[in-house]
Amino acid sequence: MALRFYNTYSGVMEEFIPSGMKKDKIQDYPPVTIYSCGPTVYGYAHIGNFRTFIFNDLLRRYLKFRGYKVNHAMNITDVDDKTIEGANREGISLRDYTDRYINIFFEDIDVLNIERVEHNPRATESINAMIEIIQRLQERNFVYSRDGSLYFSISKFHKYGMLSRLDRRQIRSGARYDADEYEKDDVRDFVLWKSPKNGEPFWETPFGPGRPGWHIECSAMVRQVFGGTIDIHTGGVDLVFPHHENEIAQSEGAYDEKFVRYWIHVEHLLVDGAKMSKSKGNFYTLRDLLDKGYSPRAIRYLLLTSHYRKQLNFTLEGLKTAENALARIDNFLVRIDDVKKNAEVDPAIRTLSQEFVVHFIEQMDDDLNISGGLGEFFDYVHSINSLIDEGRFSIADRDFVMDILRRIDSVFGFIFFKKASHGIDAERIQSLIDERQKARKEKDFVRADRIRDELLAGGIILEDTREGVRWKIRQ
Ligand SMILES: [Zn+2]
Repeated sequence: MALRFYNTYSGVMEEFIPSGMKKDKIQDYPPVTIYSCGPTVYGYAHIGNFRTFIFNDLLRRYLKFRGYKVNHAMNITDVDDKTIEGANREGISLRDYTDRYINIFFEDIDVLNIERVEHNPRATESINAMIEIIQRLQERNFVYSRDGSLYFSISKFHKYGMLSRLDRRQIRSGARYDADEYEKDDVRDFVLWKSPKNGEPFWETPFGPGRPGWHIECSAMVRQVFGGTIDIHTGGVDLVFPHHENEIAQSEGAYDEKFVRYWIHVEHLLVDGAKMSKSKGNFYTLRDLLDKGYSPRAIRYLLLTSHYRKQLNFTLEGLKTAENALARIDNFLVRIDDVKKNAEVDPAIRTLSQEFVVHFIEQMDDDLNISGGLGEFFDYVHSINSLIDEGRFSIADRDFVMDILRRIDSVFGFIFFKKASHGIDAERIQSLIDERQKARKEKDFVRADRIRDELLAGGIILEDTREGVRWKIRQ
């Protein structure tokens, strides 16, 4: 059995062959090139976004676990209608505005134990690559201009619609066009370059001043980081059409070579059975959940452990179940740590462990079947617990099992969950806040202030709100 993924482009499961050339050994492949559509940095990312980012993390971690090398880029969209609007509203530069949310984004990533990827290109630093693609598309007659803006004419690109498999009529009647309000030849055409409007940032180019459309940003950043065809492109299913369809049209139109070998898309996240929306009151950012006292480890566990091609119904109840599963793991770790018997590694434990790893790989190789992989893991925990019950567990066995757990956790990232690298530990913060409240009630203001200062020294700011005391990370 080999690693297989469901490729949105072909609509079937395919064996994963990086670079398109089959090799005898995994170690012989060049690094797997991955591009993931990243955040638009105008606010706090919500847990639907994090489902996709945690999937990207699982993908790269599992590839490394299997022995592949990984070269992964996730872009930052730092110029679009929302970022420009936000910066103008606050009267600060686009750069200052987006820097703030980029920092917040990376803090959140760290809190969830999501690995940093090799490249985080910013759209505003990739303008030259956009100019190059647009010029090539102009030479090949894919482009027309209206009122200083440039459009891609999709009737010129015959493979348009191959990824989303929408026929032309469906695309026409679909409600989700580009929201750009410009005059186009065909309603399906999309904007490559927008003419400057008053109060908006713009760049000078050979085809006039303006700013990029959203789709061209990703095509350009893929080209800038990787040069040519990449192995894997990921994103949420809502990006299949039109965003990814348009990326293909731009990149393949400009360079006459395959853009992406495997397209992998993550299904929606629902909250309490419905689409998340602020008006329904079921909209959560990561920080909303941390404020409510849920641990980032449980959030990671819940978002990671349902298959990426199934809709995930997120509930607070589900987070409690996740906490219980993690408590079982913690109790197991305490138990195996508590052995004192001196003996050689039990052959039964060696066999059991090796079989577990084989079965885990079988499950995960099947399109990252995490539920299957997790099932194998809990079976293994159960078997080891039984051996401990029988008194058959030694210090050597413990070291052997710990080694297996560390290897598996290089994929899961929730067994030995590091307290966030910024030292943010929601539980500890909450207990200090509670202590401070108690001190205030007892009119021990010296102690209350000392606690507040201690938190402040750790970069945590307290705010007294009507709902009680809230905390946030100092910028
Ligand atoms: Zn993108």
